[in-house]
Amino acid sequence: MPNAKKVAIIGAGPVGSLAALYFANEGWNVTLYDLRADPRLQRATASTSSTGKSINLALSHRGIEGLKGASKKLGDMITSNVVPVYGRMIHDKKGRQESQAYDVHGQHINAVDRGWLNSVLLDEAEARPNVALKFSHRLIQCDFDARIVKFVTEDGEVDVNVDLVVGADGAHSAVRNQLMKFARVDFEQKYIDTLWCEISIPPIVTEDGKEEYPLDPNHLHIWPRKTFMLMCLANIGDDKSFTGTLFMPQSDFDDITYPQDVLDFFKTYFPDVIPLIGEEYLVKQFFNNPKGSLVSIKCAPYHYRDRCILIGDAAHAMVPFYGQGMNCGFEDVQQLFMHLKANNAVASALEKYTVARRKDLFAISDLAMANYVEMRSSVTSKMYLARKHTEEF
Ligand code: FAD
Repeated sequence: MPNAKKVAIIGAGPVGSLAALYFANEGWNVTLYDLRADPRLQRATASTSSTGKSINLALSHRGIEGLKGASKKLGDMITSNVVPVYGRMIHDKKGRQESQAYDVHGQHINAVDRGWLNSVLLDEAEARPNVALKFSHRLIQCDFDARIVKFVTEDGEVDVNVDLVVGADGAHSAVRNQLMKFARVDFEQKYIDTLWCEISIPPIVTEDGKEEYPLDPNHLHIWPRKTFMLMCLANIGDDKSFTGTLFMPQSDFDDITYPQDVLDFFKTYFPDVIPLIGEEYLVKQFFNNPKGSLVSIKCAPYHYRDRCILIGDAAHAMVPFYGQGMNCGFEDVQQLFMHLKANNAVASALEKYTVARRKDLFAISDLAMANYVEMRSSVTSKMYLARKHTEEF
């Protein structure tokens, strides 16, 4: 498409990949760049340690609507490859479980495999004639006025002319740093004193050799312990495992130095989890799996003239306790195109997007922060629990 406008989307994570589809649908000439190698080539061995990202995610209505806006068929295919999650299962220290439904009418969230979802979006983008994928390209500089972006590649630096730059390059966005030199961007960043560590819970193997989920797959399982918590979601696929995430202050992680400390800690707080994982595998994972940090970022405006727009975590990294980071990023793309379609001039569409989106994004970021207290503590209050054993959390 020789006369089509050129958009460079920086970041081929879930949000950038979805944005590529929307721009392609509208006839733009799209190039999707990422500093990583093609993640689809590493799928077979993907794990937290290789990607630094959680393995599974909660996909909500908000995100599904964003996906369907690019392609209903694609959205339907994705939602047929999820595990529906209808409520929370609260585990107390005695191993008792209590189900708390999300909704009386059965509305639910969905556990989805992050790597698979990203690959599906990349495959779909790659199949479009007006999308090019360029991996191992690290964006280092943008001159938005001259419409030039600069990348470092294995073969050296490359300058590219573009009409529009879309920053979908995550929480530590290079595009956002560049945008701040051109626009008066307010910026706020907060690290919370909580690290996260993933712990895999393997499937149960039955006597006839079949693999079964070790817990009810249709619940988000939470072990709320007031100042920290363990939670886990079922993985979709043949192996019927769960991925657990331990969220805990750094100082508590630091206090656990020896294998016996890990076992004592789990025996005290999550005794029902040990037999599901096995002592040896638990200790190994606790020490070997990375401990991720959690940052909340608010900024605005998200754009500069008709030259740049931030979406996804680049615009609004949020703590994960509301399960809405990626979902919101998908909604960003949908909302952005609502404005692009309603306004002939790109500059005025981007301006309207910033004005309309800022309040919602700040609000959901605050809700995500507040939901950490809800998940690790408030869910144990008598208001929520049918039985009255609040002292056992
Ligand atoms: P990313 O996924 O961070 O992708 C950014 C991409 O940009 C990467 O591929 C990166 O390589 C690339 N990049 C970075 N810098 C450059 C550069 N200079 N040049 C080129 N490329 C670059 N969200 C949910 O909706 N539901 C959940 O259940 C959920 N659970 C979570 C659990 C945890 C523990 C965490 C930490 C987060 C969770 N999230 C969840 C949030 C979700 O992971 C993010 O919101 C989502 O990944 C954001 O997608 P993105 O495409 O904007 O950014």
